[in-house]
Amino acid sequence: MSKILNVAHLGKTYTSGSKKLTVLDDITFSIEAGETFAIVGPSGSGKTTLLGLCAGLDRPDTGSVELCGTYLGDLSEDELALLRNREVGFIFQNFQLLPTLTALENVVVPLELRGSKNPKSIGMDLLDKVGLKDRFHHYPSQLSGGEQQRVALARAFSSRPSILFADEPTGNLDQETGDKVVQLLFDLNQDAGTTLVIVTHDVDLARRTGRILRLKGGKILANETSEAS
Ligand code: ADP
Repeated sequence: MSKILNVAHLGKTYTSGSKKLTVLDDITFSIEAGETFAIVGPSGSGKTTLLGLCAGLDRPDTGSVELCGTYLGDLSEDELALLRNREVGFIFQNFQLLPTLTALENVVVPLELRGSKNPKSIGMDLLDKVGLKDRFHHYPSQLSGGEQQRVALARAFSSRPSILFADEPTGNLDQETGDKVVQLLFDLNQDAGTTLVIVTHDVDLARRTGRILRLKGGKILANETSEAS
């Protein structure tokens, strides 16, 4: 297997007024292509910040991120956006759908960006896959939290990402809906070989992944094989 993500000596500090807060300190780990990987730790331990740096949504102060064979630090903002569009899916805890677009339009946007043929029919297939074909014309405000998260999943799947980053994908969902969303994620890993990197508080979800990175106070406490593997 080859490494899809290599993180070396990553550091991030936020400054607010005269105060400096080191959020990540000397973080080094790597992930193999096709792996399922959980990042866990107490609130404020730097999980979301780490996920954003790995996905190229933000830049580190020190260290490097190599994603899909490319050092993100070498890329301009445009090149980074292109790489993200081509290789990366991202799912946010609060879904982040575009409120003025319907479910189908939200899924179709990344397809159009990639110049896909028949984006609408691919978008409908993806909505079907997440069980929302009959809600294609609904706006996010007309959908429940679980339905919005499933639209977000369909949107993330639409770019056929090599690697999918998910920040607390079940955080705002009830158990049953959360289970459905998790199943869809693991199906994607099984069917398409998509690497999953999931930040979660959910112990059961973390245990289903192959490996768990434990963070505390911006440092790695452990990087361990989980019981599932
Ligand atoms: P987690 O996901 O583990 O809860 P975060 O990565 O969200 O942790 O945050 C880690 C720390 O960094 C927290 O103390 C948070 O308040 C702080 N932080 C996060 N983003 C910013 C920001 N943009 N500016 C200043 N501080 C931030």
